[in-house]
Amino acid sequence: MPSGQYKLEAANKAEDEIMSIQAPKGCRDIFAEEAKAVRYLEEQFSQLAEVYGFKEIRLPTFEHTELFLRGVGEQTDIVSKEMYSFTDKGGRSITLRPEGTAGVVRAYLEHGLAAEPSPLKLYYMINAFRYERPQKGRYREFQQFGMELFGSENPAAEADILSFLDSYFKRLGLKDCELVLNSIGCAECRPAFHAELQSYLRKEKDRLCPDCAERMERNPLRCLDCKLDSCQSVLADAPVPVDKLCPSCAEHYAEVKELLNALKIPYREDPKLVRGLDYYTRTVFEFHADGIGAQSAICGGGRYDSLVSSLGGPETPAVGFAFGVERLRMELEAKGIELPELLKPRLQIISFPETRAESLALAKELRAAGIYLECDLMGRSFKAQMKQANRLAAEYILIYGESELGANELKLRRMSDGEELLVARAALKDFLSQ
Ligand code: AMP
Repeated sequence: MPSGQYKLEAANKAEDEIMSIQAPKGCRDIFAEEAKAVRYLEEQFSQLAEVYGFKEIRLPTFEHTELFLRGVGEQTDIVSKEMYSFTDKGGRSITLRPEGTAGVVRAYLEHGLAAEPSPLKLYYMINAFRYERPQKGRYREFQQFGMELFGSENPAAEADILSFLDSYFKRLGLKDCELVLNSIGCAECRPAFHAELQSYLRKEKDRLCPDCAERMERNPLRCLDCKLDSCQSVLADAPVPVDKLCPSCAEHYAEVKELLNALKIPYREDPKLVRGLDYYTRTVFEFHADGIGAQSAICGGGRYDSLVSSLGGPETPAVGFAFGVERLRMELEAKGIELPELLKPRLQIISFPETRAESLALAKELRAAGIYLECDLMGRSFKAQMKQANRLAAEYILIYGESELGANELKLRRMSDGEELLVARAALKDFLSQ
């Protein structure tokens, strides 16, 4: 498999004129084994999501820029610094989606899904785009899987979503992803808290990093999770939202925790967890993994009870999350967890020049019945074909020599123990489908 960059070499160009084309910075090709692993993660995700009663939604890759300005928040890093926006030929401002939630909410409103019985549960598997400084676990194009549950203000909605995530990670073999939990209050309790935090921060303004000094006025909550040690030491005694919740937010948060205890889902409370997007209310959470270095947040989510109405819809409570597939894969690798092989060939047909046509016809017939098999397309020697069968770990081989031409019975060799089995040609399809 070629790796790294392709060199497109124009035959008559001098060495120093060789044009080298690489993927844009922060973008990756996903192929062969990695693509297989991603497909496995998708299959497991969608299977479990359907079991939990979620339906898939496929979204456009780009949306009107306005959607993200209103849906993600103009003050966020995503909108203020990281969007891939451009003007299309019709003069519209378009943005490659930096996340999935805004698009799901747009679709929810556009298709009148608010009129459907609640809760309405959707899941998605998307690529997303952010103009970030690429580093390990941070790309400019990356994949997110996510879920959104609309219409329930009950803590059972958070519990359902967290139950799903806990099961999904366990299903993959990840046992020690840590759930970090907090509540950041609602439109009732937040203004008073904002004012209190702001007055604390104003007194410390000179000791804050330039970003926090600026955020402090527009979005003081975001200062709480600044990653810089210098800011964290300033914030050691800062007020935190969980201490200032109104009675109904406090009750809600207590119920979320009770349900998690009942579901035996362990969590750690972090009063400074706030998340980077503006739309969250009440419950916020992240899953952290210890095997992947600085970008340890695999998954982020929470409740966003005012997003639907802020995009012009009816008051609709909602809960959701998204996780990064690249980071999930990094954690699986760091923990040495091998994903099951998705597909090994059931059969490798070993052929010879005089039997090639007939063996290809047999291959076509078996493949039409959904049987994965490999056959020689290279004109390789017998030995080289056997080697290929071993490399691909084919379950059976069929040596298709002259005596097999038109024969009613064919001899399969089981590779695991060398056992030979005679199977009627007419029964081959059924035999290999089992
Ligand atoms: P967010 O939408 O910012 O809450 O991110 C949710 C999850 O998406 C994170 O926990 C990461 O796993 C993943 N993620 C976000 N940004 C990136 C990125 N630039 N590259 C790779 N994964 C990302």
